[in-house]
Amino acid sequence: MPRLIKPSSYKPLTVSALPRKIGLPVSRWQRLLEVFLLLLAFAVLLWVTAVFSNRYALGVLSDQGEQRLNLYASSLQSGFEKYDYLPEMLSVDSKLLDLLNQPEKTSLVLQANLLMERLNAMAGTSATYLMDANGLTIASSNWQEDRSFVGKNFKFRPYFQTAIKGYKGRYFAHGITSQKPGYFISHPVLDAGEILGVIVVKVGIEDLEKSWAKTRPDDRVIVTDEHGVIFITSFKPWKYRSLYPVADEIRREIIKTRQYDNALIEPLSVRISEETADGNPILMIDQWRRARKPETGQYLVQSTDIGGTGWIIQLLSNTSSAKPIISVALLVVGSLFVVIFIIVLYVNQRRQVLHERWLAEQRAQAVLKTARDQLEDNVKQRTSDLTKTNTELRRQITERQKAEKELQNAQNELIQASKLAALGGMSAGVTHELNQPMTAIRSYADNAAALIKMDRLDEASANLKTIGELTDRVARITGQLKMFARKSVARVKPVSLKGALDSSLMQLMPRIQSENVAVIQHIPEGRIWVMGGIIRLEQILINLMNNALDAMTDETPSSDIQKRLEVTISKSDNFVTLSICDTGPGISAETMSRIFDPFFTTKMTGKGLGLGLSITLGIVKELGGEINAENRADVGACFHVKLQAAVEKKEEILD
Ligand code: ADP
Repeated sequence: MPRLIKPSSYKPLTVSALPRKIGLPVSRWQRLLEVFLLLLAFAVLLWVTAVFSNRYALGVLSDQGEQRLNLYASSLQSGFEKYDYLPEMLSVDSKLLDLLNQPEKTSLVLQANLLMERLNAMAGTSATYLMDANGLTIASSNWQEDRSFVGKNFKFRPYFQTAIKGYKGRYFAHGITSQKPGYFISHPVLDAGEILGVIVVKVGIEDLEKSWAKTRPDDRVIVTDEHGVIFITSFKPWKYRSLYPVADEIRREIIKTRQYDNALIEPLSVRISEETADGNPILMIDQWRRARKPETGQYLVQSTDIGGTGWIIQLLSNTSSAKPIISVALLVVGSLFVVIFIIVLYVNQRRQVLHERWLAEQRAQAVLKTARDQLEDNVKQRTSDLTKTNTELRRQITERQKAEKELQNAQNELIQASKLAALGGMSAGVTHELNQPMTAIRSYADNAAALIKMDRLDEASANLKTIGELTDRVARITGQLKMFARKSVARVKPVSLKGALDSSLMQLMPRIQSENVAVIQHIPEGRIWVMGGIIRLEQILINLMNNALDAMTDETPSSDIQKRLEVTISKSDNFVTLSICDTGPGISAETMSRIFDPFFTTKMTGKGLGLGLSITLGIVKELGGEINAENRADVGACFHVKLQAAVEKKEEILD
C-alpha cells in the first residue's frame, strides 16, 4: 500500500489573536466627571450671559433713562419758568397798587380779588395773591374758597422775605392753608421806589406729578431740594422723604419753617447694590404700597441739576424692565447650548458608530485575510502532500508494472525452459517416433522403386500411398511439437463457440462416419460467445474429440455397443461450459493422475504422442478457463471445459 503523507501541519482556522475590543472603556467616574464639567460649563455660560445681558440691558435702560430724564427736567423747568413773568407783570397793575395804598377800601379789595381770580384761572396756576408789607394777605384768587388765603399772614415764608427786600423770590413749599404743595414765585410791588407789598403766584405741581406717574408707572421721578428732600415725586409715598438721611439740624430747620408742612423727612430704606459702567448707582429701595410687608424695587438712578434752583431731578428706572432682555438672552443662549450640545452629541455618536463600523469591517477583513491565508497555506500544504503521494504512487505503479513484467517474463521463460527441458528429456522418444515412420518411408520408397522397376505398379502405388500416410503422421508429430513449443502471445477476443464446434466436426466428419460414431449435441439456442480465438477453440475441440474417437476404436473392449460422441454446451452468467463425452472405456485411476502431463500416453507407439491434453490445458488456461476429466457413471469418460463468456462479439480472431 502506498504510504500517504499525514497532513499534520494543517493549521486550523483561528481568530483568537484578533482584537475584539472596540474603543476605550469609559469608567463611571470619568462619565460623572464629564457630566459635571458639562454642567459647570453650562452654568458658567449662563452666568456670563446673565452678566453681559444685564450690562447690555442696563446700558439700554441708561440710554433711554437719560433721554427721559432730560424730558422730565425740561418739562419741570418750563412748567415753572412759564409763570416767571406773571408776578412781575401783576406788580405793576394799578389796581393792586391802589389796594396796597388803600387796603381798607372794600371795593378795591373786591376789584383785586376778581382780577387775580381771573388771571389765576387764565394762567392755570394754583393761586395768586397779594400781601402787604407785613406779610398779610389782602387779596387772593381764592378769596371765595374756604381755605382762602385772605387774612393769612405768610411773613415767615422765605419767598416773602426775599421779595420784601426787593428781589424776586422762588420757593417750593407745602401750602399750610391749602395743604397743597406748590412753587411760589414772588415779586415786590413798588410804588415810587417804595415796597408796598408782595405779589405771589403759586404754581401747583399735582398735574406734573400725575403726568410723570402715568408715563411709566414702574419708574420713579423725584425732585430733591438742596438738602436731598424729595418734594416732587411721581410716587406719592416718597413725598417729603429722602434717599439718604438728612442731617438733624437741617431737618429741624425744615420742620421749623414748615416748608414741607409737618413732614418728618424720614429717609427711605435704600441700599446701593451696584453701579453702572458710567457711574450711576443702582439702588435697592423698600417701599410699602398696599401690602404691609415691603416690596423691594431695584432702580437705576440718573440725575441732573435744575439750573439756578439747587434742585436735582432724578429718574429711578425700575430694572425689572431689563429682566425680559436677560431672560430672552438666557433662553436663547441656553437653547443654543442645548442644541449645540445635542448636535455635538449626535455627531460624536455618529462618529463613534462609524468608527465602530470601520473597526468591525477592519476586523472582518482581518478575519477573512487570516482565513484566506490559512486556507491558502492549507491548500498549498495539501497540494504538496497530494503531489508527493501521487509521485510515490506513480513510482510504485511503475515498480509494480516492472515487477509484473519481470514476473511474466520469468514465467514465460520458466514455461519455455520447462518445455525445452521436457523436449530435451523426451527427444529420445520423439526421435524414436520420427525415426520409425522415416525408416518405414525409406523402405516403402525402396520397395516402390523396386516394384516400379518390375512394373508392379499397383503394388508400387500402394506403397506410395502408405508413404503419404506415414508422411502425414510425421507432419502431425512435428505440428504438435511446434505448437507445444510456441510461446503464446495471441490476443483473446469474443468468438462463437458454435462456429468453432461446427468447423471441428466438419474436419472430423470423415473419421466419425468411417468409424460409425453417432454425434449427439446438447446445445442451447442462439449464438454462444466465449473469450478466445477460433483456431485455439478448434484445437481444443479437435484434441478432445480425437481422444474420444480414439477411446471408441474397435480395439477397445466396449466396441460392440453403439459409439456416441456427445457434445454439450451449457451457459451460466459469466461462463460457458463445453462437455465432450464418449462411450469409450473411461480413464483409469493411474491415467487420471497424469492425464494432462506432456508426453503422457497410453496409446501404442505411432498412435499417440501424449501432447494433446497437455496442449489443450495450456490453451484453456491461456483463455482464463478450466478443464477437468471424469468418468461417467455408466460408460465412457467426459471432459469439461469452462470458458469465460463474452458479452458481445466484436470480431472473430484468427490466431
Ligand atoms: P495421446 O492421445 O497421444 O495418447 P493425449 O495427451 O491426448 O495423448 O492423451 C493421453 C492419454 O489420456 C491417452 O493416451 C489416453 O490413455 C488417455 N485418454 C485421453 N482421452 C481419453 C478418453 N476419451 N478415454 C479414455 N482415455 C483417454
